Amino acid sequence: MCKYQQKSPRENEENMKRELQDKLYKKYPKILKEASLPVGDGWYKIMDELCNKIQNHIKRNKLKHIRVVQIKEKFGGLRFYINESSEEIYEYVYKAEEESLVTCEECGSKDRVKQIRGDWIATLCYKCAEERNEKQ
Ligand SMILES: [Zn+2]
Repeated sequence: MCKYQQKSPRENEENMKRELQDKLYKKYPKILKEASLPVGDGWYKIMDELCNKIQNHIKRNKLKHIRVVQIKEKFGGLRFYINESSEEIYEYVYKAEEESLVTCEECGSKDRVKQIRGDWIATLCYKCAEERNEKQ
């Protein structure tokens, strides 16, 4: 068992798949120690790249205390909060947040992605948006 496994506060379909979450916790155990991953599978790659950049930055600059304190989705976009940021990290986070707005949160596609308004705002490609409409 991975000791960083934890229950996400949002137990609904928007949560990242367990196996993807485990991958991220295994790759970035220190920076993700205090964070849950209440975002869709489609953003796995964005998360992976962002965490990788932050982890390398931490190693290069010997910044041991840096942690991600919260990850969430707000208005259809990724939000990533860090206990202490530098200009470089801020830049990485900003780019990842921008990318999340053009990346389907469900499947990761960038094909005709837009913000869909429902009970909450979701960033979806046209296929996933259609599927969601059919379910409702
Ligand atoms: Zn999609």
